[in-house]
Amino acid sequence: MNLALLFDEDFIGPDRVRLTGRRRAHLATVLKAAEGDRIPVGRVNGELGEGLVTAQDEDAVELAVTLTQPPPDPLPLTLVLAMPRPKMFRRVLQTVASLGVKDIWLINAYKVEKSFWQTPWLSEASLRENLVLGLEQARDTRMPRVQIRKLFKPFAEDELPALMTERPGLVAHPGTETPCPVHLNAPATLCIGPEGGFIPYEVDKLVAAGGRSVHLGRRILRVETAVPVLVGRLYDAARY
Ligand code: SAH
Repeated sequence: MNLALLFDEDFIGPDRVRLTGRRRAHLATVLKAAEGDRIPVGRVNGELGEGLVTAQDEDAVELAVTLTQPPPDPLPLTLVLAMPRPKMFRRVLQTVASLGVKDIWLINAYKVEKSFWQTPWLSEASLRENLVLGLEQARDTRMPRVQIRKLFKPFAEDELPALMTERPGLVAHPGTETPCPVHLNAPATLCIGPEGGFIPYEVDKLVAAGGRSVHLGRRILRVETAVPVLVGRLYDAARY
C-alpha cells in the first residue's frame, strides 16, 4: 500500500478521516506510522496528498488530510480480457488497476471454463477490493470500470465494433504475422485470450469487429505476463 485510498465514508470532517480494518493495520504494522507522521493518501476519483496522523488506537487511525495533486493520467486503453481462472483473475485485476487501465471488459470464450464465472472474486465487493489494492500500489485514485459479458457472440457482434472505431483494435494472438505496435500512446482496444488461447472462430469474430491480430514474439506468455508486456509496448511509462 503506497497510498491509503480514502472513500466518502472515511471522512469524519471536511479534511479528517478515520481508517479502520486493513488500512489501519497496514499503517500500524507495515508502515509503523506514529502520531505526527505523514503518509501518502488519495481520495477515490479525486486528488492525491498527505495524511497527518493525529490519533491512533487499536481500532482506528485518524488523519488530517490535504489533497493537492492530480492522480496520474489514465491509460487510454480498453482491455477486453477472456475471463482468467480465479486465482490468476485476482492478480490480473490488481495488475491491470496498477497499470492505469480504467476500462475493463471480462468476456467469455470457448476455452474459458464455465466454473470460472462462479468465482466469488467477481462480486461487486471483491472486484472493488482488488481494484483498490492495485490503485493503492500504483498511487492512483481513479477507479476502473469492470463490465462482464458472459456471451461471446453478442458481445463480439453488437458491442465490440463500437469499441474499435476511430482507434486500433488489437487482438493479442501468438503466431500471427504482425508484431504488436510500440509507443502507440493513443487510444486502443486490446483483446487478450484465455489460458488456452482464442479459437480460430473467435479470432475471426474479433477481426470482423475491427481488430487486428498482433503478436509479442514467439514465446507464449501467461495472461498475467502478457498484460504488462502489451501495456508496456503500447504506452510509454513517462507519459502515464
Ligand atoms: N495456448 C494459447 C496461448 C494462450 S496464452 C495459444 O497457443 O494460442 C493466453 C493469451 O495471452 C493469448 O490468448 C494472448 O492473448 C496472450 N499472449 C500470450 N503470449 C502471446 C504472444 N507471444 N503473442 C501474442 N499474444 C500472446
